[in-house]
Amino acid sequence: MMRGLVLMLAGATTLLSQGEKIRVIAFGAHPDDCDIRSAGTAALFAAAGHAVKFVSVTNGDVGHHLIHGAALAQRRAAEAKESARRLGIEYEVLNNHDGELLPTLEVRRQIIRQIRQWNADIVLAPRPNDYHPDHRYTGVLVQDAAYMVVVPHLVPEVPAIRKNPVFLYYEDGFQRPNPFRPDIVVAIDDVIDKKIAALDSHVSQFYEWLPWVAGTLPEVPKDPAERKAWLKRARTREIGPSGPIRAALVKWYGPARGNAVKYHEAFEICEYGMQPNEARIRQLFPMLH
Ligand SMILES: [Zn+2]
Repeated sequence: MMRGLVLMLAGATTLLSQGEKIRVIAFGAHPDDCDIRSAGTAALFAAAGHAVKFVSVTNGDVGHHLIHGAALAQRRAAEAKESARRLGIEYEVLNNHDGELLPTLEVRRQIIRQIRQWNADIVLAPRPNDYHPDHRYTGVLVQDAAYMVVVPHLVPEVPAIRKNPVFLYYEDGFQRPNPFRPDIVVAIDDVIDKKIAALDSHVSQFYEWLPWVAGTLPEVPKDPAERKAWLKRARTREIGPSGPIRAALVKWYGPARGNAVKYHEAFEICEYGMQPNEARIRQLFPMLH
């Protein structure tokens, strides 16, 4: 028992030596997906000096009712850049077409390259049972890369990583084949306005395209400050006093803080990649205390 404990602690220090940056890479299908699911967590990591990169696997070139193609892709790349500036992170938009993403070998190689080049400790992705085919295939692509990132003769131009990262899924509401399980829940109350500021960068989406799809375009205020307040009301949902999210918050933060949290982002541990124990999760998510 004692020997096991000593070995575990020794392992923990070699995995992340003091002062070392935690490296997080988040994948989304479109330039705004990573922001919606993890901008609060990203802001917390960035504020603590860690390294975060958002990657949009498509360029978002059909996500609008008035413009499309290169003009839209260019606009969305600029919005992503502004979001990254506000969060203190990096953002890369890959040049694959929106609405047509498939889990091909070519895109799998792109994902492997991204994870290796970032030397990621944590990889975030959607679950592969999302309603949107681009989201779904982004989930499949990251799953397909989860083991391959350590195989040196695959994509040999970028050296394979020696340690397999922890792969995590974003929270979603899909029930089949199984509902999302909140293994890690991060309190984002301190950075909720930063998260809204990140979403506010994606003007073409939150103030134009998404309200157009929902039929709520006339409700969007014209004034920049008013529409940001409207966005916060529309995009934030306080957690209830009970349920699995609240229970996870109490587990990670203790009852006093855990019961007081209003806003959160949650993640499920993927069965592929490194399987972290509780001590390792606390190392990788130092904000959990
Ligand atoms: Zn999307």
